[in-house]
Amino acid sequence: MSNSWQATIFTLFPEMFPGPLGISLLGKALSNNLWSLEVRDIRDHGLGKHRTVDDSPAGGGPGMVMRADVAAAAIDAVPRGDRPLIYLSPRGAPLTQARVRRLADGPGAILLCGRFEGLDERVIAARAIEEVSLGDFVLAGGEIAAMALIEASVRLLPGVLGAAASTQEESFSAGLLEYPQFTRPQDFEGKTIPEVLNNGNHSEIAKWRQAQSEALTRARRPDLWSLHQKGSFPFEK
Ligand code: SAH
Repeated sequence: MSNSWQATIFTLFPEMFPGPLGISLLGKALSNNLWSLEVRDIRDHGLGKHRTVDDSPAGGGPGMVMRADVAAAAIDAVPRGDRPLIYLSPRGAPLTQARVRRLADGPGAILLCGRFEGLDERVIAARAIEEVSLGDFVLAGGEIAAMALIEASVRLLPGVLGAAASTQEESFSAGLLEYPQFTRPQDFEGKTIPEVLNNGNHSEIAKWRQAQSEALTRARRPDLWSLHQKGSFPFEK
């Protein structure tokens, strides 16, 4: 148990967890202690009778900002060890498969979920918090982003997925999008499975898949394609 991958979440909505993380293979891995989930209610460190966690933004403007002292008290109550401390934030570095792989190879992660207009800037510096974004869009809170980060990391842990090999070949692992997949029936609404996949010639199949991956990546993700051509893609370990 002590050397399993440890996630700690700070949230104002602990009832959102484990939610989807308790389902299917991740849920089974959670029951089997391949990873652990500790959920901490930030409001436990709120101030006064109303357990206040936020206040209006200095300088004015709409909404509320999470207080630095409350966030710091919550963070400081948990032993960090060697785990990275991450604030899910649209201003952060966009999450990549390479970062996920490094997280999965480490001891776990401590994740701070924002709400409202965000978090007082001072606590980010004071606790050396890393900011990570799920993408260039704005969520209502950090919880779903935290779940996505955890799901992506935990599925890479040994023993969580059935076939370990399937995480090596999939999209991004080699800097390319994955080739198209097919299964029965052989004929779906008049469309058949590409002949090469039926002939059992593994080297031809591998060649076809590689060509498909390259064509898809070139067409859909010119950004990834140009990195791939330079031989420097950000998706390796
Ligand atoms: N006013 C902020 C957005 C706050 S959204 C801004 O413009 O940057 C409220 C919370 O949702 C944030 O504190 C953050 O924890 C979470 N959040 C929103 N979008 C996110 C994203 N793309 N990735 C990760 N977390 C996000």
